[in-house]
Amino acid sequence: MTNQNVVASDEKSAVDIRIRFLLPKSLFSPDGPKPLPAPRLAKKIETGGVATAAAKTNAWVNSMRDSSPTRVKSTCSLSESEEKNSWIQMNHPSALSMFEQIVNASKGKQIVMFLDYDGTLSPIVEDPDRAFMTNEMREAVRDVARYFPTAIVTGRCRDKVYSFVKLAGLYYAGSHGMDIKGPSKSRKYKKDQQALLFQPASKFLPMIDEVCKVLVEKTKSIPGAKVENNKFCVSVHFRCVEEKMWAALAEQVRSALNDYPQLRLTQGRKVLEIRPTIKWDKGKALEFLLESLGYANSNDVLPVYIGDDRTDEDAFKVLRNRGQGLGILVSKFPKETNASYSLQEPAEVKDFLRRLVEWKRISFGRACRV
Ligand SMILES: [Mg+2]
Repeated sequence: MTNQNVVASDEKSAVDIRIRFLLPKSLFSPDGPKPLPAPRLAKKIETGGVATAAAKTNAWVNSMRDSSPTRVKSTCSLSESEEKNSWIQMNHPSALSMFEQIVNASKGKQIVMFLDYDGTLSPIVEDPDRAFMTNEMREAVRDVARYFPTAIVTGRCRDKVYSFVKLAGLYYAGSHGMDIKGPSKSRKYKKDQQALLFQPASKFLPMIDEVCKVLVEKTKSIPGAKVENNKFCVSVHFRCVEEKMWAALAEQVRSALNDYPQLRLTQGRKVLEIRPTIKWDKGKALEFLLESLGYANSNDVLPVYIGDDRTDEDAFKVLRNRGQGLGILVSKFPKETNASYSLQEPAEVKDFLRRLVEWKRISFGRACRV
């Protein structure tokens, strides 16, 4: 266990919806990819004290739309198609097509894998309780974890995501990293043989339980809304809520949060998330786990983080700021991101993991023959 500074935020606002327009920079090209050619997705939403409640709600709804594209258009216009191709090829190339460059960059370094769950290892489905991963994906994750320290980093409750993944040899960082537990069986690369357990927001547990009950009541009038208690945070899923009801849902959540200034709202893909106002997120969890593995100030590590969500941007940003490792965004749509690479969907994540394992097996075989 390490000494992490968990500082209570002095932010008074319960709202933390900021879409930052940050240009990506390749880790492997000295010039880096070009800026997004058509920054029409670029948007910065600030919600402050002068904003009216209605303005806040509208900002939330716009943000919900941006973070939750509902489908791929069957007929893209030429400009949309060009924008997508440009986004992939110039700004966030496919991690599959750049595989050789990625593994070359890992030479002499320990790869550490960080994997989001929903939308990364499993598809986004209507019922979040049924977001199962396939057996093929489970095998790919299991094999990756045999060669590299691997962590699941999710907004979900740790126990819940474990019930989906069902693999003992992994680190699990639930509730956006506020609930971290190490592998339940010993690992050769684990420096500290004591079980790792880290819960920086434990004092918020009663408050989270309380606001969860309030949200269940307040969202009863919104068909399709589903409130999920993720232990250290609460998720309000709107996967099954008609878009015309999003404003009503946002208003209900906003009014509930009025009584809890120590909680804040963030957004993910088709989900509103309420969490404590501590400065802790998936990026902090990534740093904590690297430190726990003995790589706090090491150049001998290549962290790889794969995620599809706005909350994963905190981890992508940490990697960018460290100038170390690579972020891979899972998305079929052009998005503003701090990730360097992209994969389109969980099936491509599975292919990337399999290739990584295959490459490691071949490399290991060569090393044994020398
Ligand atoms: Mg996700």
